[in-house]
Amino acid sequence: MNKVQYCPICNSQKFKSHFECKDYYATGEEFLICDCEQCGFRFTQNFPDEDKISRYYETSDYISHSNTQKGIVNKIYHFVRSFMLRRKANLIEKIAEKKQGTLLDFGCGIGFFLNEMNRRGWSVQGIEKSEEARRFAEKQFGLNIFSNEKVASLDSKTYDVITSWHSMEHIEFLNQTIDQLQMALKDDGVWFLAVPNSVSMDEKIYKSYWAAYDVPRHLWHFSPKSMSALLQKHGLTIQEMYPMPFDAFYISMLSEKYKGNRFSFIRGFVSGLYCYVKSISNIENSSSIIYIIRKS
Ligand SMILES: [Zn+2]
Repeated sequence: MNKVQYCPICNSQKFKSHFECKDYYATGEEFLICDCEQCGFRFTQNFPDEDKISRYYETSDYISHSNTQKGIVNKIYHFVRSFMLRRKANLIEKIAEKKQGTLLDFGCGIGFFLNEMNRRGWSVQGIEKSEEARRFAEKQFGLNIFSNEKVASLDSKTYDVITSWHSMEHIEFLNQTIDQLQMALKDDGVWFLAVPNSVSMDEKIYKSYWAAYDVPRHLWHFSPKSMSALLQKHGLTIQEMYPMPFDAFYISMLSEKYKGNRFSFIRGFVSGLYCYVKSISNIENSSSIIYIIRKS
């Protein structure tokens, strides 16, 4: 078990308990969510050790779900995924002002995004901790994917673009990993970092049922304020923030299900729509945020 002793952002040892969250996805176990008293950073306390956490992941289910076209839910899922892949790729090419270059995807999963960028002519590399996901990406797309150890031996100033789509919230050695990725980024490179937003409208509605707490898989629960403070320590600056519009719907539907509400799909859709509308006028309400990061 990993007891967080020092706040990864401000080093304070003073924390206050926020509430208990349940692992609705895999085990039903409860985990404590804490806030740093000094800087407000929110995290999962006493999360499982790296060698014990695999039982909280169900990769096989995830992969088969990702690859089947059967049923309406999977059809919607595939439609949304290809829409999001194109949207991410377009955003990258617009902000990086490049149609080709070197790209590293940290936490690349089963490789759909890397494959899209590769197809567009980018020179791509991926890092993924799940061996099963790595094997799938290699077999399905012919991509060469490294395990997480690779992050310690990346060549410096190599990548025009680094992406981490919903992966930094899973990383135990947060500061170390940010340092390593920062070093691998070219001086004029851009890092696209997407994570759930713990001050979002959907968090305010669902609180401990908010599906993006996703304990104990999610260790860190970022807000724009805490992300900015964390990155600043590593010589990085947030240049812009973008919403991820589908996340409000997906997270709301899942949160309704976790609450045990009937008609969770419809209720989640309505609530997701409300949260999405709220995020148009204020990005801080957005369920997830894509942070556009550059070296300071
Ligand atoms: Zn702190």
